[in-house]
Amino acid sequence: MDTRLPEFPKMEISNYITQLDLLNNPIFTTKEKKFLTGFYEYMEENLEKDLKILEELNYMAEEPIQEKKKEIVANFMKKLAEKGYYSTVIDFEEHEVGNVTRNALIALVLCGGFWSQNSDRYINGNWSIEMGRLAGGTLYCNPVNYKANEFQREKYLIPVVKFGLMAASAMTEFNAGSDIARIELKLDEKGDKVIANGKKLFITNGMLAENIILYGRLNSGRLGGIIVDTEHQQLKNFESSRVRTYGMNDAFVSRLVFNDVELLKENLLEGDGLDIMFHQLTEERLVISAEAIGDCIKKLFFSHSFALQREQFKHKLHQYQIIRFPIAENIRQTNLFLSALINYTREIDKHPQAASSKMMASQSMGLKIQTSELAFQSSIDLFRTMGGRAFTEQYCNQVGLLDAYCMIHGGGSHYVLGDAESRRFFKTK
Ligand SMILES: Cc1cc2nc3c(=O)[nH]c(=O)nc-3n(C[C@H](O)[C@H](O)[C@H](O)COP(=O)(O)OP(=O)(O)OC[C@H]3O[C@@H](n4cnc5c(N)ncnc54)[C@H](O)[C@@H]3O)c2cc1C
Repeated sequence: MDTRLPEFPKMEISNYITQLDLLNNPIFTTKEKKFLTGFYEYMEENLEKDLKILEELNYMAEEPIQEKKKEIVANFMKKLAEKGYYSTVIDFEEHEVGNVTRNALIALVLCGGFWSQNSDRYINGNWSIEMGRLAGGTLYCNPVNYKANEFQREKYLIPVVKFGLMAASAMTEFNAGSDIARIELKLDEKGDKVIANGKKLFITNGMLAENIILYGRLNSGRLGGIIVDTEHQQLKNFESSRVRTYGMNDAFVSRLVFNDVELLKENLLEGDGLDIMFHQLTEERLVISAEAIGDCIKKLFFSHSFALQREQFKHKLHQYQIIRFPIAENIRQTNLFLSALINYTREIDKHPQAASSKMMASQSMGLKIQTSELAFQSSIDLFRTMGGRAFTEQYCNQVGLLDAYCMIHGGGSHYVLGDAESRRFFKTK
């Protein structure tokens, strides 16, 4: 049963906004614009249809949509991988734009959508799909790339990057959220096996993943990371199930249970688990910043169009300053953050050692906080602008209204990061 009211038309983005067109932005180089144009074309031709089907499925109350979505999402990652848009950690061919910048540009566009010059219309983005790409292509691939030996690379990294296999990173537990040093999942080393016991929570892609990087406590008491081959989710004594979330409809955020699961010791990564987890952090923060900026762009397109189209008290909404001002302010902020983002990613591409700098980690954390707070604010402003309609699934799904609400958690909670940051400013020794 389709739950949409026929009186509500689908909201069409009627107007191009020069200030939100990445191809019109002087901050991007010709090579970056060429990369963006290539991705735009690929998204319009090969991915947009899937994004539309995923949205439409949300309206089918009483129908088992999860199985249909699973297949679309898994194929989506494969399509991305065909052109190197899933993970950018390994270059199989020469690229004119660096890995981290490419990763950020893909995230920007997948979340923000874009105005197509080819068809003169807006192509909608979807943050929850990008979350799946981030989890598999970056949160799994980057640490594996950092520590895997030749055997592990060949078996568990190359196929993921090349063929877009679903993958996940499992850190969070019921008692270890922000405080990941409290991880309790046991990785008991016994001969050539490692026996995993424990639970993981909020794992993006968890119930779809072919491979998972699983963090847990080794016999020595220190944290370690091991690659789990889920044997197409049929691994003995392993269970995965979906956590129902508001927003992030297509990210398949999951709960995982390991109950005496036998893993091969040859899949254990060399080195300390905390170091492996933190290694990717700067890139992760920058990609999440790109996602959040993309989401602002999307929300602004919707606020702008609605304000142009909707009339109340004999005036179009955009004729009221109270409606116009937040939109203008958010556009201004979005562009400032965009320029900071692109400068950071280019710097890391030019000097990869910059990714390990404490200052870069801290600045990317600051950017991640500010951009996701702006995405949150842009969602609230859109919610206000749209009035009652925003509250209906019919529009909420189309604009991914609640996605930004989820993301003020992702990659470490803002209060924790903000508290740590402010403490550092007052350090006297
Ligand atoms: C959509 C989504 C996808 C996710 N995907 C993944 C994934 O793929 N893999 C994975 O491992 N995890 C994932 N997570 C988990 C995410 O990393 C955690 O939600 C996050 O680390 C916060 O942990 P928590 O939810 O347990 O909150 P808690 O740690 O319980 O925090 C609750 C509140 O207290 C605050 N707080 C906690 N400690 C402090 C402190 N020291 N100072 C000040 N304030 C503090 C927090 O900021 C927060 O506001 C995902 C989460 C979401 C929502």
